[in-house]
Amino acid sequence: METIWTPHRFSGEALALDVANSVVLRTDPARTFDRFDDPAQIVRFADAASRFRSSELGDNRLVVSDPPVAKPRIVALREATDALFRSMSAGGGFRSDRLSPLLALCAAALQARPLALTAESDAPARGQGDIELESAVALSALSLLEPRNRARIRICGNCGWLYLDRSRNGSRKWCDMSVCGNRQKARRHYRRFRADEAGSGHA
Ligand SMILES: [Zn+2]
Repeated sequence: METIWTPHRFSGEALALDVANSVVLRTDPARTFDRFDDPAQIVRFADAASRFRSSELGDNRLVVSDPPVAKPRIVALREATDALFRSMSAGGGFRSDRLSPLLALCAAALQARPLALTAESDAPARGQGDIELESAVALSALSLLEPRNRARIRICGNCGWLYLDRSRNGSRKWCDMSVCGNRQKARRHYRRFRADEAGSGHA
């Protein structure tokens, strides 16, 4: 299936979470699907992420130079990222046995696809031109481990996507208010409407 990589699909607020969210409706076995099944979609994701995550990327351009080889590596990073932060956000604690596989995959990615870093910022050094998605995702996942970030990772109450809550008071409930917030509102409205109907004697 062809995916248009719209701004909504970058609601994670961090590259590693946008990648985690390439699995749609992860907690619904009947409807879940993986937008990265087709390696060509990973290339298109990287292209869109270059624009939507430009500040996190130090304005470098994301590339996937060998998609069939990169795919299983990126998917493994994605699954380790999701496993760690989803269980943590759901109240399962910050567990070393979930941290360890993520750290191993990040180390392998940064070794295989080296990046220039800086002492001042989580972002890769500017002016590198093309950087590989795999190592940029690893760097993003590592930056999410900082306490100020990991304490702000949430699970969307509508679609189950992970996102970094950058709101001032940390009370954001949806990955994207204009999509998931509105769907929940419509659902509540519908339930109220049905309750009123039932209450007034209409079937
Ligand atoms: Zn959502």
